[in-house]
Amino acid sequence: SAPQTQDDCLFCQIVTGSIPNDTVVETERVLAFRDIQPQAPTHVLVIPKDHHATLAAVAVDDPQLASELLAVVPQVASAEGLEVDGYRVVANTGTHGQQTVHHVHLHVLGGRQLQWPPG
Ligand code: 5GP
Ligand code: ZN
Repeated sequence: SAPQTQDDCLFCQIVTGSIPNDTVVETERVLAFRDIQPQAPTHVLVIPKDHHATLAAVAVDDPQLASELLAVVPQVASAEGLEVDGYRVVANTGTHGQQTVHHVHLHVLGGRQLQWPPG
Protein backbone atom coordinates (compact mmCIF):
# COMPACT_ATOMS: atom_id res chain seq x y z
CA SER A 1 0.00 0.00 0.00
CA ALA A 2 1.09 3.62 -0.53
CA PRO A 3 2.90 5.30 2.36
CA GLN A 4 0.96 7.67 4.61
CA THR A 5 2.38 11.09 3.70
CA GLN A 6 1.78 14.75 4.61
CA ASP A 7 1.86 17.03 1.57
CA ASP A 8 3.54 19.90 3.47
CA CYS A 9 6.44 17.69 4.60
CA LEU A 10 9.77 17.84 2.74
CA PHE A 11 10.71 14.22 3.41
CA CYS A 12 7.22 12.99 2.43
CA GLN A 13 7.82 14.76 -0.91
CA ILE A 14 11.10 12.83 -1.20
CA VAL A 15 9.22 9.59 -0.47
CA THR A 16 6.64 10.29 -3.18
CA GLY A 17 9.36 11.37 -5.63
CA SER A 18 8.12 14.93 -6.13
CA ILE A 19 11.55 15.98 -4.80
CA PRO A 20 14.40 13.84 -6.22
CA ASN A 21 16.85 12.03 -3.96
CA ASP A 22 20.09 10.06 -4.18
CA THR A 23 18.98 6.70 -2.73
CA VAL A 24 21.50 4.48 -0.92
CA VAL A 25 19.17 1.75 0.45
CA GLU A 26 15.44 1.22 -0.03
CA THR A 27 13.17 -1.34 1.61
CA GLU A 28 9.39 -1.69 1.46
CA ARG A 29 8.84 0.83 4.27
CA VAL A 30 12.19 2.64 4.72
CA LEU A 31 14.26 4.95 2.49
CA ALA A 32 17.93 5.92 2.98
CA PHE A 33 19.26 8.79 0.85
CA ARG A 34 22.20 11.22 0.80
CA ASP A 35 21.93 14.45 2.79
CA ILE A 36 21.91 17.48 0.47
CA GLN A 37 24.42 19.26 2.75
CA PRO A 38 26.79 16.47 3.79
CA GLN A 39 28.77 16.94 7.02
CA ALA A 40 31.07 13.96 6.35
CA PRO A 41 32.15 11.88 3.31
CA THR A 42 29.16 9.64 4.06
CA HIS A 43 26.07 11.48 5.31
CA VAL A 44 22.91 9.47 4.76
CA LEU A 45 19.42 10.07 6.16
CA VAL A 46 17.30 7.02 7.03
CA ILE A 47 13.55 7.66 7.15
CA PRO A 48 10.31 5.69 7.38
CA LYS A 49 8.17 6.20 4.27
CA ASP A 50 5.16 6.82 6.50
CA HIS A 51 5.12 10.27 8.12
CA HIS A 52 5.99 10.31 11.83
CA ALA A 53 7.40 13.50 13.38
CA THR A 54 9.73 11.93 15.93
CA LEU A 55 11.32 8.70 17.10
CA ALA A 56 8.84 8.68 19.99
CA ALA A 57 5.91 8.90 17.57
CA VAL A 58 7.05 6.03 15.36
CA ALA A 59 8.09 3.88 18.32
CA VAL A 60 4.62 4.23 19.88
CA ASP A 61 2.47 4.22 16.72
CA ASP A 62 4.31 1.53 14.74
CA PRO A 63 7.03 -0.29 16.70
CA GLN A 64 7.57 -2.74 13.82
CA LEU A 65 8.41 0.21 11.57
CA ALA A 66 10.77 1.63 14.21
CA SER A 67 12.58 -1.70 14.18
CA GLU A 68 12.77 -1.72 10.37
CA LEU A 69 14.15 1.85 10.45
CA LEU A 70 16.93 0.81 12.82
CA ALA A 71 17.69 -2.31 10.77
CA VAL A 72 18.48 -0.19 7.69
CA VAL A 73 21.36 1.57 9.50
CA PRO A 74 23.79 -1.38 9.24
CA GLN A 75 22.68 -1.87 5.62
CA VAL A 76 23.76 1.73 4.92
CA ALA A 77 27.03 1.17 6.80
CA SER A 78 27.71 -1.91 4.68
CA ALA A 79 26.76 -0.19 1.40
CA GLU A 80 29.09 2.72 2.27
CA GLY A 81 31.97 0.56 3.54
CA LEU A 82 31.85 2.00 7.07
CA GLU A 83 31.97 -1.21 9.10
CA VAL A 84 35.74 -1.33 9.70
CA ASP A 85 36.38 2.29 10.69
CA GLY A 86 32.95 2.91 12.21
CA TYR A 87 30.35 5.62 11.98
CA ARG A 88 27.83 7.67 14.00
CA VAL A 89 24.01 7.54 14.14
CA VAL A 90 22.16 10.71 15.26
CA ALA A 91 18.49 11.60 15.69
CA ASN A 92 18.18 15.34 16.25
CA THR A 93 14.92 15.77 18.18
CA GLY A 94 12.93 18.90 19.00
CA THR A 95 14.27 22.38 19.75
CA HIS A 96 17.29 21.48 21.88
CA GLY A 97 18.21 18.75 19.40
CA GLN A 98 17.96 21.28 16.54
CA GLN A 99 15.60 19.11 14.50
CA THR A 100 14.74 21.08 11.36
CA VAL A 101 12.71 18.52 9.38
CA HIS A 102 9.81 17.15 11.40
CA HIS A 103 9.74 13.73 9.75
CA VAL A 104 11.83 11.34 11.83
CA HIS A 105 15.26 10.61 10.36
CA LEU A 106 18.47 8.97 11.47
CA HIS A 107 21.68 10.63 10.28
CA VAL A 108 24.39 8.09 9.44
CA LEU A 109 27.77 9.85 9.35
CA GLY A 110 31.15 8.37 8.51
CA GLY A 111 34.17 8.29 6.25
CA ARG A 112 36.32 10.52 8.48
CA GLN A 113 37.28 10.81 12.17
CA LEU A 114 34.32 12.45 13.95
CA GLN A 115 34.64 14.53 17.12
CA TRP A 116 32.77 14.13 20.43
CA PRO A 117 31.03 15.83 22.18
CA PRO A 118 28.98 17.82 19.65
CA GLY A 119 28.57 21.55 20.30
P1 5GP B 1 17.78 17.81 10.98
O1 5GP B 1 18.41 19.16 11.04
O2 5GP B 1 16.26 17.89 11.05
O3 5GP B 1 18.33 16.80 11.94
O4 5GP B 1 18.18 17.19 9.57
C1 5GP B 1 17.60 17.56 8.37
C2 5GP B 1 18.61 17.27 7.31
O5 5GP B 1 17.94 17.29 6.05
C3 5GP B 1 19.76 18.28 7.21
O6 5GP B 1 21.00 17.62 7.42
C4 5GP B 1 19.62 18.84 5.79
O7 5GP B 1 20.86 19.08 5.18
C5 5GP B 1 18.82 17.78 5.08
N1 5GP B 1 18.01 18.27 3.98
C6 5GP B 1 17.25 19.39 3.98
N2 5GP B 1 16.60 19.52 2.80
C7 5GP B 1 16.98 18.44 2.05
C8 5GP B 1 16.63 18.00 0.72
O8 5GP B 1 15.85 18.62 0.00
N3 5GP B 1 17.21 16.86 0.29
C9 5GP B 1 18.08 16.13 1.07
N4 5GP B 1 18.59 15.02 0.55
N5 5GP B 1 18.41 16.51 2.32
C10 5GP B 1 17.86 17.64 2.79
ZN1 ZN C 1 6.77 13.48 6.29
